[in-house]
Amino acid sequence: MTAGALQTLAFRCAELTAIVLFILGLVFLSSPATARLGNRLAAVGMIIALIAFLSLTQGVGWWAIAIGMVVGGMVGLISALRVKMTAMPQMVALFNGAGGAAALYISTIEYYSGQAPYPSLLIVSLVLSAIIGALSAGGSLIAFLKLQEVMSGRPITYKGQQIVNGVVALGIVALAIWTISTHGDVPAAAIDALLVGAFVLGVLFVLPIGGADMPVVISLLNSFTGVAVAITGFELGHELLIVAGTLVGASGTLLTILMGRAMNRPLTNVLFGAFGAAAGSETTAATGGPQNIRSASVDDVAVLLAYARNVMVVPGYGMAVAQAQHSVKALADQLEARGVSVKYAIHPVAGRMPGHMNVLLAEANVPYPALLDMDDVNPEFPTTDVALVIGANDVTNPAARNVRSSPIYGMPILDVDKAHNVIVLKRSMRSGFAGIENPLYELPNCSMLFGDAKASVDALTAAVKAQ
Ligand code: NDP
Repeated sequence: MTAGALQTLAFRCAELTAIVLFILGLVFLSSPATARLGNRLAAVGMIIALIAFLSLTQGVGWWAIAIGMVVGGMVGLISALRVKMTAMPQMVALFNGAGGAAALYISTIEYYSGQAPYPSLLIVSLVLSAIIGALSAGGSLIAFLKLQEVMSGRPITYKGQQIVNGVVALGIVALAIWTISTHGDVPAAAIDALLVGAFVLGVLFVLPIGGADMPVVISLLNSFTGVAVAITGFELGHELLIVAGTLVGASGTLLTILMGRAMNRPLTNVLFGAFGAAAGSETTAATGGPQNIRSASVDDVAVLLAYARNVMVVPGYGMAVAQAQHSVKALADQLEARGVSVKYAIHPVAGRMPGHMNVLLAEANVPYPALLDMDDVNPEFPTTDVALVIGANDVTNPAARNVRSSPIYGMPILDVDKAHNVIVLKRSMRSGFAGIENPLYELPNCSMLFGDAKASVDALTAAVKAQ
């Protein structure tokens, strides 16, 4: 075997290993118990892929790529180490936008470094990956700015918005057809207009979507980036890029569908419904806020917990903000030492990203079997002595079950109101992300323990210990 053939064989083996590791990574990521392993396997696959491609590069190019990889890797590493869990969605948005921009960049370089007329398959790939990449980059940028609260998370709407979006979309389609039908033989200005138009459409498309729906949008844009990357693989003739892009595209699409289903809202409603804080705050203002609220003291709640048979912890976004997961575990340990059974009720959209609560509780070493899914846990609430709601709001709102006019009507919720006692830990009577009142707080079996979730849980642990 010649040295060249040996090198090709080694490259193909590395490529296949990376593909297998990516697929295994996804398989393991589908369960919280094995997610860390999945993440590591995929990371090893990526390192193998990068080394394999670097070994193929000849001439002066390799050191430029190596420098790019080191700089990019450092940026990724430092931001991943420094980012707070609650800021994870905006980091994902930013990285996703970078993926879309990379697909756009590669397609543009490929176009300008060649000469029209391009073969049909190549020009279709170049146009599609550039459009989808630009759309994803523009949309992800706005998603990042909204989640980071640099701009308002409210839906930004104006008269004739759908018409403006439609005109821009039609312009892009017309330019794309022109470019493809002439095999790329169009003026540079047409290419520039196509790319800028797609980026602008991404921006316009995300502006009217409310902050609470942003994770669904990010997941959708993520699938766009995957598709753009897969098409880029066709342009460059790289099988690994095609497989990796397809995996991202498919898993992003599935995640989008699952999140929409968990919120009981069709994707079209998320994308075109302009649902969000605006509608919710009107509801709050109209009714003048909740009435007859009972406030409990730490000692009252500690007695209730200490002498309960079973306690259901219901975590939400507020637990993530307060970083109270370790304190929650300490309280559960204290209660279990007294013979109280403690379980955790996990709503699929609690927090701000899928699996948010699972990740936090796993970090605090809460045993995975103690985490119950919504469908399994709801029948248990009528026999639960205390439902301890820690920074959850929308996912416990009974209006989703019985108030037809509510923006969250139809969303499956955790039936905490059916427990014998409900204790809600939050700082104030402010609403959750959907911006609507929660009638749970007015029920006779519900009491509020106001304060930061971590401080309240720590105080409860000390008070239970003293019992
Ligand atoms: P919510 O956003 O409904 O409520 C969180 C509550 O936590 C707030 O009412 C807030 O009240 C309280 N809180 C905030 N900080 C603290 C703190 N330091 N200590 C104590 N309490 C605190 O959260 P949920 O988890 O119930 O619901 C998630 C929402 O996000 C839903 O509307 C869901 O549809 C949406 N969403 C989630 C997605 C996901 O993938 N997870 C995807 C798309 C949307 P206060 O300010 O008074 O303390």
